[in-house]
Amino acid sequence: MGTINCKICSSSTELLLIGDSEYHTCSNCGFISLSEGFYPEFEDARERYLLHNNSIENAGYVAMLENFISSCVEPFVAEGSRVLDFGSGPQPVLAELMRRRGWDVDIYDIHFAPERSYENKSYDIITSTEVFEHLVEPKDVMRKLVGLLNVGGMLAIMTSFHPKDPEIFRNWRYRMDSTHLCFFARRTMVHMAQIFRLDVLLMDDKNLSVLKSQGNPKV
Ligand SMILES: [Zn+2]
Repeated sequence: MGTINCKICSSSTELLLIGDSEYHTCSNCGFISLSEGFYPEFEDARERYLLHNNSIENAGYVAMLENFISSCVEPFVAEGSRVLDFGSGPQPVLAELMRRRGWDVDIYDIHFAPERSYENKSYDIITSTEVFEHLVEPKDVMRKLVGLLNVGGMLAIMTSFHPKDPEIFRNWRYRMDSTHLCFFARRTMVHMAQIFRLDVLLMDDKNLSVLKSQGNPKV
């Protein structure tokens, strides 16, 4: 047990104990991370992802992704845009829905599409839905994704913003998923945008962020 520096802003964190689990909370940027000792094994996490019924036949799941596309992607896409879906999952449903719109979509997923399709490429839009909460080092991933953006390119991220109140956080179902390692507040995303010199194009109070590259990021 011990405190660590925040994985996003490097401020010192405070320990939050919930049941048998241990979290590090950052009062500076609002980021919360599960202690590394509580991470699931790589294979166990993969098995758990396979249990999700996230197929193209799942109408609720498709509606959620269609909403993401229409609010976070479509308004910002030009004809011929190149898209990467980062963390495309066991069944790349979002990629399929975007391809149906005629966009040129690559996918990557550490478990299910590990071939580095993005190598030597750059993108106008990178989407990442329900992925950031699973990352061990979100800032490193963010750096990598920003480096793959064209000038003026966009990053559209969906991850649920945590409730600020520790008591509500304690009972939050999203926290209880054993594969969720990172929890962002809206202001954590604003902080990340500042670190990587991104403009905030869109951010809601629930789970959506669209960030735009200002130019040539050298971070
Ligand atoms: Zn922080």
